[in-house]
Formats: sequence, structure tokens, C-alpha cells
Amino acid sequence: MNNFDVVVIGSGPGGYVAAIRAAQLGLKVAIVEKDKTLGGTCLNVGCIPSKALLSLSEYFHFARQKFASNGLMVEELSFDLEKMMEKKERIVQKLVRGVDFLMNKNGIEQFHGVGSLSDPQTVIVKDEKRGELKIKAKNIILATGSRPATLPFLASFDDQIVDSTSALSFKSVPKSLAVIGAGAVGLELGSVWNRMGSKVYVIELFPRICPLMDYDVSKHLESFLKNQGMEFFLETRLLGIKKDSGEVVLELASQSKTLSLNVEKVLVAVGRIPHCQELQLEEIGIRRTKKGYVEVNSRWQTTQAHIYAIGDVIEGPMLAHRAQQEGIAVAQLIADQDPFPVDYSAIPSIIYTFPEAGGVGFTEEELQAWGRQYKVGHSRFASNGRALAGDVAEGFVKILVDVKTDRILGIHAVGPSVSELISLSTVLIMKKIRAGEFMQVPLAHPTLSEVLREATFSAYKRAIHS
Ligand code: FAD
Repeated sequence: MNNFDVVVIGSGPGGYVAAIRAAQLGLKVAIVEKDKTLGGTCLNVGCIPSKALLSLSEYFHFARQKFASNGLMVEELSFDLEKMMEKKERIVQKLVRGVDFLMNKNGIEQFHGVGSLSDPQTVIVKDEKRGELKIKAKNIILATGSRPATLPFLASFDDQIVDSTSALSFKSVPKSLAVIGAGAVGLELGSVWNRMGSKVYVIELFPRICPLMDYDVSKHLESFLKNQGMEFFLETRLLGIKKDSGEVVLELASQSKTLSLNVEKVLVAVGRIPHCQELQLEEIGIRRTKKGYVEVNSRWQTTQAHIYAIGDVIEGPMLAHRAQQEGIAVAQLIADQDPFPVDYSAIPSIIYTFPEAGGVGFTEEELQAWGRQYKVGHSRFASNGRALAGDVAEGFVKILVDVKTDRILGIHAVGPSVSELISLSTVLIMKKIRAGEFMQVPLAHPTLSEVLREATFSAYKRAIHS
């Protein structure tokens, strides 16, 4: 019989980080993974392969759009999709092998197969090589993640109506692609294929893309993407989908009109749902929320106190960095260490299009609904030397500052390398830095981060460069 202090089910960013931290704290740890490789959605079919394709397609797009005007002459620019996909695969393999190395380095035992709970202390693994195994666990962490949601009238995906996993591996560039859902996944993969030559249509039920994002950022991102050739059908409902003469026909309802759209492929990017169907939670009395997530308290405990759940399988923003934070926090709780803070008001969120868009903290709409008095600082990349030098001077940073306390309440941006800028902003929000304090910080020149400081000056009507 295998006995462990902690058994983690699922090896995504939540699970593998929890396993490593628990092992670092001296606990005997096992990890159970049903897929062939470790790393979960994020490393295998999510964050990493999507960013690989976004980077490669962005180089291509940038070269095509901007090289000649910058005096860089390329005789004939083309791409080899197969090689691009091989490159993406090499990056994924390098990272998943890295997780495997970290498991071994930290003495974490791996079980490969579907894990389920036979009683509150026992995990059963249907391991392909070792057969069915029983593992005894003092504590269990459920980190089984999520899977793509589908549409009510769609029985299954095929090679023309696909989910994000398939859209990361198209063998050829579709002539036309309809993306259902204007969230991060739809816009990122839509951008990739738009840059490679597809005619991309984005269909969204809400009146704007990324409805939870700051309004200004979302509207500017929409217009940048339109300029790149993407076409948006907002406030549009998908009524039905059928195949006709090799094409997919979408029936759409937009306000009072109905229309049909013929495309080669459709990417369904309408969100993700928690993945816990194999765990047999109900049989040992673990409750789920109305939306199907595993129910947890503020210490990530399920209705069985020694069984925890983290990441996409519980409610909250489906983001890898949130899952990782929770992984560390739960490992420290189990090992009876100092609590590791997970500040849900300071979880950044990014869309890795070009320009990138994102934010951290409260949006202006949230502050208005709340009746909080705030002032706004604003600065454009067009007056930033580094952005001009790289010919990427598009977009802006907006900072929201509490009138009474001078605390920075939210930072939102669309522009080059906004992901890095918003990461820096997360420190300001989480550590409750006051705008006056941040203004005194000398940021290296020339950097894109200077736009953030300039926006803070602007909140005080003291902008230097505009
Ligand atoms: P997962 O990464 O989903 O891992 C769960 C693991 O559990 C999987 O390996 C699964 O096989 C395994 N598992 C499930 N059930 C069982 C079982 N019964 N037994 C054994 N193993 C099981 N997030 C970001 O923060 N930034 C991004 O840029 C980003 N880009 C994304 C792009 C795409 C295309 C997609 C789809 C997602 C993206 N995400 C991004 C979201 C991110 O991938 C998830 O939020 C993150 O992976 C969640 O981590 P997790 O550990 O909770 O679960």
C-alpha cells in the first residue's frame, strides 16, 4: 500500500506547484495525472502553446507591416506552418519535461492514470502501466482543472468545428474562421490565424469584447483588432450551426436581424467548465456549487476538511497564476506553516494580442457602481521614447487613484508589453502603494514602464511628457 501525506490529483500549474511546495516543506507527496505529460492545460494546450503561436505570428505580421517603413528590406517574406508548429511543440516539450524533472528533484512520486476517490482517505489510480492502484492519503488536493465548454446545440467537435486545443494545431491556414466568444482565448487564437491570413469573424453576445475588462481598454482593443482585419459581430447570438457543401454555416441573430455566415472553420471559445467528472465526489459527500465547481471554504477545504481544491476546478478567474498562488497557499496550510496570502483583488488579467490588453484592481465601471471617489491618470505610448524607438507606440495606460487615501485602485492598459507592465502594477495594487509614493520611483529610461509613472503624474495634472 502506498501511503502519502499529500496526494495531488492533476498536474497543471495548481497541482504541480502545490506538490513542489508540499515536498519542500518535508511532506511525502504523490501526484496523479491522467494525460501523458505533466503541466496541465496551461503547458500542454493553453498558455504556452498559444503564446508560442502568438509570438511567431506576431514576428511575421510585424515584419510584413513594418519592416519596409523602417528601412529593413526582406526580399520575400513567407512562412512554413509545419515548422512553426514544430517550434511550438518543442517549447511545450521542454517545459513539460521541466515539470517532470522538478517532480523527481523534489522526490514526488508520479502516478499516471485517471484518479478518483474511493473513500475520503483513498485515491484510486487506473495507471496504464501498473494497473489499478490504491493510494492512501492524509490530505488530498484536487487540481483537476477545466475543459472547453461547448454549445447546447453542438453534439461534438470535429475537424471544422473545433475547440481551442485543435485551433492550436491547424495543419493549414483556414481561409475563413468564425470565433464564437470574444474572451481571451477567442481573441488570442483569432489573432494568430488572422495574422497568418485567415479572414476572422468574432461573434459575441455582449455589446463589447472582453466584457469584464475596463471599458476604454476593451473598446480600444476592438478598434486595433478591426484595423488588423478582424470583423466583429457584437450583441449577436448564435442560433444554429450546420454544414453545407464543405462549409460551416452559422445562423446569427443581431438585434432584430438574422443573418447567415459561411466559413471554413469555427472555433468555439465560449469559456471553460470545471473538470471533475471522474473524481466520484458525490460518493464521498463532496459538494459542488450550482455551476458545477467543487465547493470550498476560504481555506480551500471541501466539505471533507482534509480534501482541498484549487485552480480552475473551483470558482474564480480561470488563470494559471491564480492556480499557482492557491497551490502554494494550500501546501503551507497542510504543512501548518505561515499562511500564504492569496489576494483575489490583485489578480492580473491579460489578453496577449497585439497590442496586449489587461488590467489589475478595480475597473472604472466598478468604482462608479460602488460610488467611490477616484481620479484618473492617463498616458499614451505615443509619447514614450522606447515605444517610438521600437515602432510599437500604440495604446495607453490608465490609472485609477482613490481621492481620499491616494491609494492606487486599478491600472488598465492596452499597448506593447502590457503583460509586463501589469505585472509591475500588481505589486502596486497588492502592496497598497499610494500614487504619491510611486511617482517618486525612478524607473529606468527608456522603458515602456515609464508610461505607467507618467499616467500617475497625469492623475495629479503634473504629466511631464504630454
Ligand atoms: P489544469 O491546467 O487544467 O490542469 C489540470 C490537470 O488535471 C490536467 O493535466 C488534467 O489532465 C488533470 N486531470 C483532470 N482530471 C483528472 C483525474 N481524474 N485524474 C488525473 N488527472 C486529472 N491562463 C493564464 O493565466 N494565462 C494565459 O495566458 C492563459 N492562456 C490560455 C490559453 C488557452 C488556449 C487556454 C485553454 C487556457 C489558458 N489559460 C491561461 C488558462 C490556464 O491554462 C488555466 O487557468 C490553468 O491551466 C488552470 O490550472 P489548473 O492547475 O487549475 O488546471
